[in-house]
Amino acid sequence: MTTDVPSAESPSPWRELSPGIHVLRTAGFRMNVGLVVGTERALVVDTGAGPRSAAEVYSHVRDMTDLPLIAVNTHAHADHFFGNSYFADQGVEEFWATSRCSEVQAEHGDEQRALVAAVEPAMGAGDGARTAILPANRLVAGTPVDLDLGGVSVTLFHLGKGHTDHDLLVGAGNVLFTGDLVEEGADPAFEDSFPTDWVRTLGKMVALEDLYDVFVPGHGEPVDVAAVITQMNKMRSAIRVTRLAMDEASLDMTKAIPILPYGPEQSRVLLTRLRTLAHWKWLTRKH
Ligand SMILES: [Zn+2]
Repeated sequence: MTTDVPSAESPSPWRELSPGIHVLRTAGFRMNVGLVVGTERALVVDTGAGPRSAAEVYSHVRDMTDLPLIAVNTHAHADHFFGNSYFADQGVEEFWATSRCSEVQAEHGDEQRALVAAVEPAMGAGDGARTAILPANRLVAGTPVDLDLGGVSVTLFHLGKGHTDHDLLVGAGNVLFTGDLVEEGADPAFEDSFPTDWVRTLGKMVALEDLYDVFVPGHGEPVDVAAVITQMNKMRSAIRVTRLAMDEASLDMTKAIPILPYGPEQSRVLLTRLRTLAHWKWLTRKH
């Protein structure tokens, strides 16, 4: 039955994936935010696209726990870390990411403001409170880092290049937060990617199936290992098709686009990316 009277309590946006391990989807970018609650601290995976979405996420976090918070950024794309300043303003001191991620945040953060302008006008303009670019200050370099939240331990680790050159994974219980290394309901985003390495990194992720059975993508529904395998195989064959087109020097490479397993836009991005990376390789070999 429908009614015009709003219910006293709206349903929680959090979905519990495992005891103490939750996920919610932000409004604008439909980005998956993770929350792992221990007995002493809680950990938030990715902070949103700016102060507006961060405030929403923060208030939902506070519906779940009053514990001190630690934040993690899976990678340096705006929708995943532009909420850092807001969280810092709420007293969060630790922002974890790979060391390379922190560098990219500092060097290229400002360039991404335009990407969020429609959803986060203040952040887009870089004007107003909590709109500063705040790079991660706790760094994962090389070896995995275990964080004890009290009764539950979270492991932060990097498996190799993929969606970017600095993707961080967050393992908690049987749940693995993958950032944009895994994509559900949309094509993988190849703009800053290393496609060949990405396939290898997904292979390493699949090898962790004894440890994890829920894989939380950066966007879309949580998936099982079979979906990660499917994404890996699809990407491997897409790269093969593109390479074949690249080897045929006389062939117009864009002819590969219709036979790639992705939509035209991401097919084009993949093709451009592979061509750019091949060119870099050629340059470094020659000179
Ligand atoms: Zn991304």
